[in-house]
Amino acid sequence: MNDCKTMRSVRFMAPGRPFSLRAVSVPSPTADQVRVRIAACGVCRTDLHLRDGLLDLGKRDFTVGHEIAGTIEACGDGVPAHWLGRRVVIYYYIGCGLCRYCRNGEEYLCPTPKAQPGFSSDGGYAENIVVPLRNCVPLPDNVDLAEAAPMGCAGSTAVHAGRMAEIHPGEWVVINGAGGVGMAVVQYARYAGGRVIAIGMGAERMALARQLGAEYTIDAAEVPDVAARVAEITGEGADVVFELVGTSATMKAAVTMLRRRGRMVMIGYTAEDFHVHPVELIVREITVRGSVGSSLEDLYEAIDLLARGVIQSPVARRHGLEEFETALAEVQAGELPGRVVLMP
Ligand SMILES: [Zn+2]
Ligand SMILES: [Zn+2]
Repeated sequence: MNDCKTMRSVRFMAPGRPFSLRAVSVPSPTADQVRVRIAACGVCRTDLHLRDGLLDLGKRDFTVGHEIAGTIEACGDGVPAHWLGRRVVIYYYIGCGLCRYCRNGEEYLCPTPKAQPGFSSDGGYAENIVVPLRNCVPLPDNVDLAEAAPMGCAGSTAVHAGRMAEIHPGEWVVINGAGGVGMAVVQYARYAGGRVIAIGMGAERMALARQLGAEYTIDAAEVPDVAARVAEITGEGADVVFELVGTSATMKAAVTMLRRRGRMVMIGYTAEDFHVHPVELIVREITVRGSVGSSLEDLYEAIDLLARGVIQSPVARRHGLEEFETALAEVQAGELPGRVVLMP
Protein backbone atom coordinates (compact mmCIF):
# COMPACT_ATOMS: atom_id res chain seq x y z
CA MET A 1 0.00 0.00 0.00
CA ASN A 2 1.46 3.39 0.91
CA ASP A 3 4.09 1.98 3.27
CA CYS A 4 7.03 3.75 1.65
CA LYS A 5 5.14 6.97 1.23
CA THR A 6 5.00 10.04 3.34
CA MET A 7 2.13 11.77 5.07
CA ARG A 8 1.40 15.16 6.55
CA SER A 9 1.95 15.44 10.29
CA VAL A 10 1.77 18.35 12.75
CA ARG A 11 4.73 17.95 15.10
CA PHE A 12 5.59 19.03 18.60
CA MET A 13 9.26 20.01 18.47
CA ALA A 14 9.92 21.81 21.78
CA PRO A 15 7.96 23.56 24.54
CA GLY A 16 7.18 27.19 23.82
CA ARG A 17 7.57 26.72 20.06
CA PRO A 18 4.82 26.61 17.45
CA PHE A 19 3.86 23.17 16.12
CA SER A 20 5.25 22.45 12.69
CA LEU A 21 3.68 20.79 9.66
CA ARG A 22 6.05 18.21 8.18
CA ALA A 23 6.17 15.26 5.85
CA VAL A 24 7.00 12.00 7.69
CA SER A 25 6.95 8.32 6.71
CA VAL A 26 3.65 6.48 6.88
CA PRO A 27 4.08 4.00 9.76
CA SER A 28 3.62 0.23 9.32
CA PRO A 29 1.89 -1.98 11.87
CA THR A 30 3.84 -4.84 13.46
CA ALA A 31 2.38 -7.78 15.39
CA ASP A 32 -0.94 -7.04 17.15
CA GLN A 33 -0.94 -3.48 15.79
CA VAL A 34 -3.13 -1.75 13.24
CA ARG A 35 -2.73 1.31 11.09
CA VAL A 36 -5.67 3.69 11.26
CA ARG A 37 -6.41 6.16 8.46
CA ILE A 38 -7.32 9.19 10.55
CA ALA A 39 -10.60 10.85 9.60
CA ALA A 40 -10.86 13.28 12.50
CA CYS A 41 -8.83 14.54 15.45
CA GLY A 42 -10.30 16.81 18.09
CA VAL A 43 -8.32 19.82 19.28
CA CYS A 44 -8.05 19.73 23.07
CA ARG A 45 -6.98 22.49 25.45
CA THR A 46 -4.19 20.13 26.54
CA ASP A 47 -2.65 20.56 23.08
CA LEU A 48 -2.23 24.25 24.00
CA HIS A 49 -0.61 23.25 27.31
CA LEU A 50 1.84 21.09 25.36
CA ARG A 51 2.70 23.99 23.08
CA ASP A 52 3.15 26.51 25.91
CA GLY A 53 5.23 24.05 27.96
CA LEU A 54 2.81 23.66 30.89
CA LEU A 55 2.64 19.95 30.13
CA ASP A 56 5.94 18.33 29.16
CA LEU A 57 6.47 14.57 29.27
CA GLY A 58 10.05 15.04 28.05
CA LYS A 59 9.63 13.72 24.52
CA ARG A 60 10.27 15.78 21.38
CA ASP A 61 9.42 15.56 17.68
CA PHE A 62 6.15 13.63 17.64
CA THR A 63 2.69 14.16 16.15
CA VAL A 64 0.30 16.15 18.35
CA GLY A 65 -3.35 15.20 18.95
CA HIS A 66 -5.09 12.63 21.12
CA GLU A 67 -8.81 12.69 20.16
CA ILE A 68 -8.49 10.35 17.22
CA ALA A 69 -11.08 8.58 15.07
CA GLY A 70 -10.62 6.78 11.77
CA THR A 71 -10.74 3.55 9.84
CA ILE A 72 -8.40 0.57 10.18
CA GLU A 73 -6.63 0.19 6.83
CA ALA A 74 -3.79 -2.21 7.61
CA CYS A 75 -3.37 -5.01 10.16
CA GLY A 76 -0.18 -6.45 11.60
CA ASP A 77 0.38 -10.16 12.28
CA GLY A 78 -2.05 -11.70 14.69
CA VAL A 79 -4.86 -9.19 14.10
CA PRO A 80 -8.06 -10.96 12.97
CA ALA A 81 -8.97 -9.97 9.38
CA HIS A 82 -12.45 -8.76 10.31
CA TRP A 83 -10.89 -5.63 11.87
CA LEU A 84 -9.86 -4.35 8.44
CA GLY A 85 -12.19 -1.49 7.50
CA ARG A 86 -13.60 -1.06 11.02
CA ARG A 87 -14.23 2.51 12.21
CA VAL A 88 -12.63 3.14 15.59
CA VAL A 89 -11.77 5.71 18.25
CA ILE A 90 -8.32 5.41 19.78
CA TYR A 91 -7.58 5.04 23.50
CA TYR A 92 -4.45 7.11 24.02
CA TYR A 93 -2.77 5.31 26.91
CA ILE A 94 -0.47 2.39 26.15
CA GLY A 95 0.56 1.20 29.60
CA CYS A 96 3.45 -1.07 30.57
CA GLY A 97 0.88 -3.81 31.22
CA LEU A 98 2.73 -5.01 34.32
CA CYS A 99 2.44 -2.39 37.07
CA ARG A 100 -0.28 -2.45 39.73
CA TYR A 101 -2.29 0.20 37.84
CA CYS A 102 -2.10 -1.53 34.47
CA ARG A 103 -2.99 -4.84 36.12
CA ASN A 104 -6.12 -3.14 37.38
CA GLY A 105 -7.06 -1.49 34.05
CA GLU A 106 -5.87 1.93 35.20
CA GLU A 107 -3.30 2.61 32.48
CA TYR A 108 -3.90 6.35 32.83
CA LEU A 109 -1.93 6.10 36.11
CA CYS A 110 0.87 3.88 34.74
CA PRO A 111 4.20 5.38 35.89
CA THR A 112 6.10 3.76 33.00
CA PRO A 113 3.78 3.85 29.96
CA LYS A 114 5.07 2.46 26.67
CA ALA A 115 3.49 5.36 24.78
CA GLN A 116 0.88 8.09 24.97
CA PRO A 117 -0.19 9.08 21.45
CA GLY A 118 -0.31 12.86 21.15
CA PHE A 119 1.54 13.40 24.45
CA SER A 120 4.80 11.49 24.11
CA SER A 121 4.43 9.53 20.86
CA ASP A 122 2.80 10.07 17.46
CA GLY A 123 -0.82 11.18 17.73
CA GLY A 124 -3.68 12.31 15.54
CA TYR A 125 -2.78 15.55 13.74
CA ALA A 126 -1.70 13.37 10.81
CA GLU A 127 -3.08 11.15 8.09
CA ASN A 128 -2.24 7.83 9.76
CA ILE A 129 -1.36 6.33 13.11
CA VAL A 130 -0.24 2.89 14.26
CA VAL A 131 -1.53 1.61 17.61
CA PRO A 132 -2.07 -1.75 19.32
CA LEU A 133 -5.40 -3.31 18.35
CA ARG A 134 -6.42 -3.22 22.02
CA ASN A 135 -6.43 0.60 21.86
CA CYS A 136 -9.08 0.64 19.11
CA VAL A 137 -12.66 1.04 20.33
CA PRO A 138 -15.09 0.04 17.56
CA LEU A 139 -17.74 2.53 16.50
CA PRO A 140 -21.32 1.69 15.59
CA ASP A 141 -22.36 2.71 12.04
CA ASN A 142 -24.68 5.48 13.22
CA VAL A 143 -21.85 7.52 14.77
CA ASP A 144 -20.16 10.29 12.80
CA LEU A 145 -16.34 10.10 12.93
CA ALA A 146 -15.90 13.83 13.69
CA GLU A 147 -18.36 13.58 16.57
CA ALA A 148 -16.78 10.36 17.79
CA ALA A 149 -13.22 11.74 17.89
CA PRO A 150 -13.76 14.00 20.96
CA MET A 151 -14.94 10.94 22.91
CA GLY A 152 -11.27 9.90 22.90
CA CYS A 153 -10.51 12.60 25.48
CA ALA A 154 -13.40 14.96 26.30
CA GLY A 155 -16.06 12.23 26.46
CA SER A 156 -14.03 9.57 28.22
CA THR A 157 -12.55 12.11 30.67
CA ALA A 158 -16.10 13.17 31.56
CA VAL A 159 -17.19 9.57 32.14
CA HIS A 160 -14.13 8.92 34.30
CA ALA A 161 -14.55 12.09 36.39
CA GLY A 162 -18.29 11.48 36.63
CA ARG A 163 -17.73 7.99 37.97
CA MET A 164 -15.18 9.31 40.48
CA ALA A 165 -17.65 11.86 41.80
CA GLU A 166 -20.19 9.10 42.60
CA ILE A 167 -23.14 11.32 41.75
CA HIS A 168 -26.42 10.28 43.35
CA PRO A 169 -29.82 11.09 41.85
CA GLY A 170 -31.07 14.48 42.98
CA GLU A 171 -27.69 15.87 43.95
CA TRP A 172 -26.68 19.37 42.90
CA VAL A 173 -23.76 19.21 40.51
CA VAL A 174 -21.84 22.30 39.39
CA ILE A 175 -19.74 22.21 36.24
CA ASN A 176 -17.33 25.11 36.63
CA GLY A 177 -16.12 25.63 33.06
CA ALA A 178 -18.50 24.53 30.34
CA GLY A 179 -16.02 23.99 27.50
CA GLY A 180 -15.33 20.77 25.58
CA VAL A 181 -14.88 18.44 28.55
CA GLY A 182 -17.34 20.49 30.62
CA MET A 183 -20.19 19.98 28.15
CA ALA A 184 -19.58 16.24 28.30
CA VAL A 185 -19.59 16.37 32.13
CA VAL A 186 -22.89 18.30 32.02
CA GLN A 187 -24.42 15.42 30.09
CA TYR A 188 -22.88 12.66 32.18
CA ALA A 189 -23.97 14.35 35.44
CA ARG A 190 -27.51 14.66 34.11
CA TYR A 191 -27.43 11.00 33.01
CA ALA A 192 -26.30 10.05 36.55
CA GLY A 193 -29.34 11.84 37.95
CA GLY A 194 -27.70 15.06 39.10
CA ARG A 195 -29.33 18.49 38.96
CA VAL A 196 -26.85 20.38 36.86
CA ILE A 197 -25.65 23.96 37.15
CA ALA A 198 -23.25 24.92 34.35
CA ILE A 199 -20.95 27.91 34.70
CA GLY A 200 -19.26 29.30 31.62
CA MET A 201 -18.71 32.27 29.37
CA GLY A 202 -21.02 33.55 26.68
CA ALA A 203 -24.71 33.24 25.79
CA GLU A 204 -24.10 30.73 22.99
CA ARG A 205 -22.25 28.29 25.23
CA MET A 206 -24.78 28.68 28.03
CA ALA A 207 -27.62 27.96 25.60
CA LEU A 208 -25.81 24.80 24.50
CA ALA A 209 -25.31 23.74 28.14
CA ARG A 210 -29.07 24.08 28.76
CA GLN A 211 -29.80 22.12 25.60
CA LEU A 212 -27.47 19.36 26.83
CA GLY A 213 -29.14 19.05 30.21
CA ALA A 214 -28.13 21.90 32.53
CA GLU A 215 -31.07 22.97 34.69
CA TYR A 216 -29.40 26.30 35.44
CA THR A 217 -26.60 28.16 33.71
CA ILE A 218 -24.51 31.00 35.08
CA ASP A 219 -22.71 33.21 32.58
CA ALA A 220 -19.54 34.18 34.44
CA ALA A 221 -19.14 37.14 32.10
CA GLU A 222 -22.40 38.60 33.43
CA VAL A 223 -22.62 37.38 37.05
CA PRO A 224 -19.94 38.91 39.30
CA ASP A 225 -20.29 36.42 42.18
CA VAL A 226 -20.99 32.96 40.79
CA ALA A 227 -20.61 31.25 44.19
CA ALA A 228 -23.36 33.44 45.64
CA ARG A 229 -25.59 32.53 42.70
CA VAL A 230 -24.93 28.81 43.30
CA ALA A 231 -25.90 29.28 46.96
CA GLU A 232 -29.07 31.02 45.87
CA ILE A 233 -30.04 28.10 43.62
CA THR A 234 -29.02 25.20 45.86
CA GLY A 235 -29.69 26.50 49.36
CA GLU A 236 -26.73 25.07 51.28
CA GLY A 237 -24.43 24.52 48.36
CA ALA A 238 -23.56 21.94 45.73
CA ASP A 239 -22.90 18.28 46.46
CA VAL A 240 -20.30 18.11 43.71
CA VAL A 241 -18.27 20.71 41.86
CA PHE A 242 -16.25 19.76 38.79
CA GLU A 243 -13.47 22.31 38.36
CA LEU A 244 -12.43 22.67 34.74
CA VAL A 245 -11.09 26.23 34.56
CA GLY A 246 -8.26 25.90 37.05
CA THR A 247 -7.38 29.49 37.87
CA SER A 248 -6.67 30.40 41.51
CA ALA A 249 -9.91 32.38 41.59
CA THR A 250 -12.16 29.68 40.11
CA MET A 251 -10.67 26.91 42.28
CA LYS A 252 -11.18 29.00 45.42
CA ALA A 253 -14.72 29.81 44.36
CA ALA A 254 -15.38 26.12 43.71
CA VAL A 255 -14.62 25.25 47.34
CA THR A 256 -17.02 27.91 48.60
CA MET A 257 -19.78 26.55 46.34
CA LEU A 258 -19.83 23.20 48.14
CA ARG A 259 -22.17 22.14 50.93
CA ARG A 260 -20.80 20.35 54.00
CA ARG A 261 -19.17 17.07 52.94
CA GLY A 262 -19.22 18.28 49.32
CA ARG A 263 -16.86 16.79 46.74
CA MET A 264 -14.62 18.77 44.42
CA VAL A 265 -13.21 17.04 41.35
CA MET A 266 -10.31 18.80 39.65
CA ILE A 267 -9.97 18.24 35.91
CA GLY A 268 -8.77 21.47 34.27
CA TYR A 269 -5.69 23.46 35.14
CA THR A 270 -3.69 26.53 34.22
CA ALA A 271 -0.26 27.70 35.42
CA GLU A 272 -1.91 28.98 38.63
CA ASP A 273 -1.83 27.41 42.11
CA PHE A 274 -4.67 26.25 44.31
CA HIS A 275 -4.76 28.26 47.56
CA VAL A 276 -7.24 27.38 50.23
CA HIS A 277 -7.00 27.57 54.00
CA PRO A 278 -7.28 24.05 55.45
CA VAL A 279 -10.02 25.10 57.86
CA GLU A 280 -12.31 25.54 54.87
CA LEU A 281 -11.88 21.85 54.07
CA ILE A 282 -11.73 20.59 57.65
CA VAL A 283 -14.81 22.06 59.27
CA ARG A 284 -17.02 21.18 56.32
CA GLU A 285 -15.33 17.83 55.63
CA ILE A 286 -14.73 18.71 51.99
CA THR A 287 -13.16 16.15 49.66
CA VAL A 288 -10.82 17.40 46.93
CA ARG A 289 -9.64 14.91 44.35
CA GLY A 290 -7.96 14.94 40.98
CA SER A 291 -9.19 13.12 37.91
CA VAL A 292 -6.97 12.41 34.95
CA GLY A 293 -7.86 10.87 31.61
CA SER A 294 -9.79 7.64 31.57
CA SER A 295 -9.59 3.90 31.51
CA LEU A 296 -10.20 1.95 28.31
CA GLU A 297 -13.54 0.88 29.77
CA ASP A 298 -14.51 4.54 30.40
CA LEU A 299 -13.95 5.17 26.68
CA TYR A 300 -16.10 2.15 25.77
CA GLU A 301 -18.85 3.61 27.96
CA ALA A 302 -18.49 7.08 26.40
CA ILE A 303 -18.87 5.58 22.91
CA ASP A 304 -21.88 3.55 24.03
CA LEU A 305 -23.54 6.67 25.49
CA LEU A 306 -22.86 8.58 22.27
CA ALA A 307 -24.20 5.78 20.08
CA ARG A 308 -27.38 5.55 22.17
CA GLY A 309 -27.92 9.31 22.00
CA VAL A 310 -27.57 9.70 25.78
CA ILE A 311 -24.79 12.20 25.24
CA GLN A 312 -24.07 14.37 22.24
CA SER A 313 -20.75 15.50 20.89
CA PRO A 314 -21.33 18.91 19.33
CA VAL A 315 -18.69 19.83 16.77
CA ALA A 316 -18.46 23.59 16.24
CA ARG A 317 -15.82 23.67 13.49
CA ARG A 318 -14.18 21.22 11.11
CA HIS A 319 -10.84 22.19 9.58
CA GLY A 320 -8.31 20.65 7.23
CA LEU A 321 -4.98 19.61 8.79
CA GLU A 322 -3.18 22.67 7.36
CA GLU A 323 -5.53 24.95 9.31
CA PHE A 324 -4.28 23.65 12.68
CA GLU A 325 -3.17 27.13 13.81
CA THR A 326 -6.67 28.51 13.23
CA ALA A 327 -8.13 25.57 15.13
CA LEU A 328 -5.77 26.06 18.08
CA ALA A 329 -6.57 29.79 18.17
CA GLU A 330 -10.28 28.99 18.29
CA VAL A 331 -9.77 26.62 21.22
CA GLN A 332 -7.61 29.20 22.97
CA ALA A 333 -10.32 31.84 22.57
CA GLY A 334 -12.74 29.40 24.20
CA GLU A 335 -15.91 30.85 22.73
CA LEU A 336 -17.17 28.25 20.27
CA PRO A 337 -20.11 26.11 21.36
CA GLY A 338 -18.63 22.66 20.74
CA ARG A 339 -15.42 20.94 19.79
CA VAL A 340 -13.01 22.03 17.06
CA VAL A 341 -11.97 19.06 14.92
CA LEU A 342 -9.23 18.61 12.33
CA MET A 343 -10.08 16.42 9.34
CA PRO A 344 -6.69 15.24 7.99
ZN1 LIG B 1 1.83 0.18 33.92
ZN1 LIG C 1 -7.54 16.10 25.87
